[in-house]
Amino acid sequence: MRAVYKYQLEVGQNTVQVPETGTPLYVGLDPDGILCVWIDIPNTDATMISHAYIVAGTGHPVHSRAIHVGSTRQGVRLARVQTVRAGDDMTNKSHVTMEANVCVVCAETFDTGAILLDRQLRERFESRTTTGWGMCPHHEALKDDGYVALVACDESKSGRLSNGNVDPGKAWRTGTVAHLRRAVFADVFNVPVPDMMVCFCDDNVIEALVKMEHREDT
Ligand SMILES: [Zn+2]
Repeated sequence: MRAVYKYQLEVGQNTVQVPETGTPLYVGLDPDGILCVWIDIPNTDATMISHAYIVAGTGHPVHSRAIHVGSTRQGVRLARVQTVRAGDDMTNKSHVTMEANVCVVCAETFDTGAILLDRQLRERFESRTTTGWGMCPHHEALKDDGYVALVACDESKSGRLSNGNVDPGKAWRTGTVAHLRRAVFADVFNVPVPDMMVCFCDDNVIEALVKMEHREDT
């Protein structure tokens, strides 16, 4: 039987089990706002194989043999999201892997440029391994230019660290990110400029800042 199946995708690398010869048709948001790929399956009874899909922001590095499937916007996130299907060789395990981190500002996965090696040369890695938080080149550059990133989240739905700050892994991000010059941040907020130059805050804080900026313009 021929059918079109839908698979949910997340930012970073995704592996989905698909009946052989399935072809990706479309990438976009489903009615619930979840990023999905729709795959045309000519024969739903065929043997299952793995497809690897990478969801990466525009300008972020992807596997050299990846094929572009589609681009979309994910919710209110301002960055465009690109989805690519990679060759099946990406699912083979290896003793080397490219290290990836997740950007604490935009939550995109990016390559750090480092290669990790298993000490006993065991074939245990995917082609890309996420090891922790960092900053993507774009947001690192803004930090180096002296900008504090304000990452909007719903504080009532976000998890917190023991020090009371929002836990980046449990932040309920609304998708809005704003950047403030360090000196402006120090003027506007009653908290010190954070070491990492990243501050999670409620959406209405960013809205209030935008309004302030407009008042200064006029
Ligand atoms: Zn980023």
